[in-house]
Amino acid sequence: MSDFEGLTALVTGGASGIGRAAADLLAERGARVAVLDLDPSSVGAPLTGYRADVSDDASVRAAVAAAVDGLGGHGVLDVLVNNAGVGARGTVETNSDDEWHRVFDVNVLGMVRTARACLPHLRASAHAAIVNTCSVAATAGLPQRALYSATKGAVYSLTLAMAADHVHEGIRVTCVNPGTVDTPWVGRLLDAADDPAAERAALEARQPTGRLVSAAEVAGAIAYLASPLSGATTGTALAVDGGMQGLRPRPA
Ligand code: NAD
Repeated sequence: MSDFEGLTALVTGGASGIGRAAADLLAERGARVAVLDLDPSSVGAPLTGYRADVSDDASVRAAVAAAVDGLGGHGVLDVLVNNAGVGARGTVETNSDDEWHRVFDVNVLGMVRTARACLPHLRASAHAAIVNTCSVAATAGLPQRALYSATKGAVYSLTLAMAADHVHEGIRVTCVNPGTVDTPWVGRLLDAADDPAAERAALEARQPTGRLVSAAEVAGAIAYLASPLSGATTGTALAVDGGMQGLRPRPA
C-alpha cells in the first residue's frame, strides 16, 4: 500500500515549483490532492486546482471549503502543505513599509489563514500533518534578504508554536528549510540578473553540494514529514539545502 493511500491533502502555491512537485508526489503515492493557487490554470488531473489568494481571508476560507468538499473525504483533511510564498530583495533601508506589509501578508499570514481554515478538518484526521515551506533564510544571514528572511524566521517560529498548540490533538506541525531550489522563481531571479550564468554559478557555489536543490528533493522531504512514517516528528525543521546551513566550505 502506498504511504498516502486513502488520505487527503491540500497544497497552497501548488501550481508551480516546490508546491507542484509536492502535490504530484503526494498524488503519486496515493493521496487525493487539492491545489490552491493564485493561478491554478496549469493544474490538471489527478490534482484538482482551486483559485485562492492566501493574502485574502475570504478567498482562503471559500477555497478551503470547496477543496475539502471536492476531496470527498467527508470533511477530513489529513495533510496541509502550507507552501505559497513570494520573494523579496533588499535591506531595511530599501524595502518600504508597504513591501514589508505585503510580503508578510502572503508569506506569514497566508500560512496562518490557511491553517485556521484547515484545522477543523485536520482535527477529524487520525494522523494529521501540517508541513510549512520555510527556508534556510530563516536561520542563515543572507545579504539583500532582510524582509524575506524575516518572513521565514516568522514561519519557523510559527511552526514550533503551532506544533505545541496542536500536539495534543494529534496534529503534527513541521517545516522544510530549502536552500536555493531550481524552480520558476529562481529562473525569474536569474533572468533579472546582469549576468545570469555568473549568478547561477554563485548560487550553486553557495551550497557545499555545488548545485541547486531540485523541487523533487524538497517534495521528498515534504512527503516524509507529511506521512505516517514521521509520526514521532513534530515542532522541527528538516534542512534540504545541499549542506548550506550546517557545513563549512572545504579548505582551499
Ligand atoms: P514558485 O514561484 O515556482 O511557486 C510559487 C507558487 O505560489 C506559484 O504557483 C504562485 O502562483 C503561488 N502564489 C504566490 N502568491 C500566492 C498567493 N498570494 N496566494 C496563492 N498562491 C500564491 O516558487 P517556489 O520556488 O516553488 O517557492 C515555493 C515556496 O518555497 C515559497 O514559500 C518560497 O518562499 C519557498 N522557498 C523557495 C526557495 C527557492 O529557492 N525556490 C528556497 C527556499 C524556500
